[in-house]
Amino acid sequence: MRSGNSFAKKSLGQNFLEDRGVIEKIVRAFDPTLEDTVLEIGPGRGALTELLVERAGRVCALEFDRELVPLLEDRFREHGNFTLVQGDALKIDFRDIVQGSKKLRLIANLPYNISTAILQRLFSCADIFEDCVLMFQREVAERITAKPSTSERGYLTVLIEAHFSVERLFDVPATAFRPVPKVWSSVVRLVPNDRSVPNVKLFREIVAAGFAQKRKTILNNLKMRYPNSGLALLSSGIDARRRAETLTLDEWLRLAEGIEATPFLS
Ligand code: SAM
Repeated sequence: MRSGNSFAKKSLGQNFLEDRGVIEKIVRAFDPTLEDTVLEIGPGRGALTELLVERAGRVCALEFDRELVPLLEDRFREHGNFTLVQGDALKIDFRDIVQGSKKLRLIANLPYNISTAILQRLFSCADIFEDCVLMFQREVAERITAKPSTSERGYLTVLIEAHFSVERLFDVPATAFRPVPKVWSSVVRLVPNDRSVPNVKLFREIVAAGFAQKRKTILNNLKMRYPNSGLALLSSGIDARRRAETLTLDEWLRLAEGIEATPFLS
């Protein structure tokens, strides 16, 4: 198999894992069993897949790059538990991959350029996953695991918390990949939580509006779009002078409930 930079497509975020120790560490953290149905997004040349097909019940790999299809088919043809789907993780309906009521376990060394877009797609189908072990650029991992009152906290953090319990597992140096990227990566585990957000669409809109301008207070960010937000903040017990990044998930949920329940004042 060719290695190094040859044929790696930057536009597809192709930084292939080559460090055997790191590959083992990721799969150990994922801990596949023969009971599992695993979805791998972006198998690339099969660095993680190689261990997954040995340890998991079924492995479905979803790869966008058509040129990698023959290589992957050839490499794993002897594994009856392996299926390859050529397609776009930004378009395919992950629900189509689920068989019956069995939940999927998701693993991916995500392409940097679309990692947050894929994450946003997971919000709407969190219920089909048992868990997800995903590798992101370290800055993205810091953002999605940021605690309240830290500057990295943003829209994505709050939305993730609303759908998943998040744990940052470990960092991976750039030297583990070929070609070597400019940044470090981090492996994160997401486990869907059973929190129910009554009006998800409105919740997303409110969080997005709340973070519109990070220097502004929560009230100033919200009041143009939601004229009742002052009253809703008051009824939710949230100081209107606070900034969006200081709010906990529970406060966001209370605020959304307040905005939905409070009549608009003209
Ligand atoms: N898993 C391999 C590894 O760890 O060496 C490759 C990881 S590489 C960072 C990302 C992979 O995702 C590449 O194989 C790339 O072709 C694939 N990819 C990029 N965009 C994709 C998309 N929209 N849908 C599915 N796969 C995609």
